[in-house]
Parts: sequence; structure tokens; C-alpha cells
Amino acid sequence: MTTLFSKIISGDIPGDIVYQDDEVTAFRDINPQAPTHILIVPNKVIPTVNDLTDADQMVAGKLLLVAKKLAADEGIAENGYRLIINCNAHGGQEVFHLHLHLIGGRPLGPMLAH
Ligand code: 5GP
Repeated sequence: MTTLFSKIISGDIPGDIVYQDDEVTAFRDINPQAPTHILIVPNKVIPTVNDLTDADQMVAGKLLLVAKKLAADEGIAENGYRLIINCNAHGGQEVFHLHLHLIGGRPLGPMLAH
């Protein structure tokens, strides 16, 4: 299965990649919601959190560890930031390739818009 994010990961379409290894790629969101807005994505296509299996334990954990590293690199670790994974319609998921949003660089306000 190929997704928009697969094409960014492979370099077929441009993306502002800030981190890449064998399992995970991170790139800046095209429509940033804050000064730092990075998407951290498994290189293999996992459509949603619902599709994770026990075999994905390492890559799922790596999304968090890469978020921690990038927060430090971006200089937002001390003030804080928010990590978001949207799932399916009620979660507002738009791209069906699992991704962790790393958002920060300003106070983010309440957790949910009402
Ligand atoms: P979701 O709503 O699925 O959690 O988030 C999808 C995110 O992908 C959105 O924040 C959106 O701005 C971002 N996005 C959509 N298309 C592109 C693209 O072509 N390049 C990049 N870098 N981000 C994209």
C-alpha cells in the first residue's frame, strides 16, 4: 500500500524531513498549527492505531522516542509540547498512514476545541 506519506518518506514527493532511520521518518507538517509541528511516521504503512499489532511494539515505541529527541532538538522540551495521534472519523484523521503530531513552540491552550 502506498500513501501520501510513503511518497514523502521515499523522496518521491518533497518533504521537509528532519529525521529518518530504518523504521521512522519525521517531517514538518505542510499546515503547521504552531511554530513546531512535525509528523513522526513509521516507514511502513500502518493505516491507524487500530491496525497496530504486537509486532509493531518497537516501531510504536520509537515514535515516542523520536518525538522526545526532536522536542529537544527544536528547543521546546523544557516549556513543553503536545503529542497527538488522530484515529478515524471521530479523531479527525485525514491521512491513513499512522503519524504522531509533535506540536509546540507556544502555549497550546485547552486540550480539545469545543
Ligand atoms: P491527521 O488529520 O491525519 O492527523 O493529520 C494529517 C496531517 O498531514 C495534517 O496536519 C496535514 O496538514 C498534514 N499534511 C497533509 N498533506 C501533507 C503533505 O503533503 N505534506 C506534509 N508535510 N503534511 C501534509
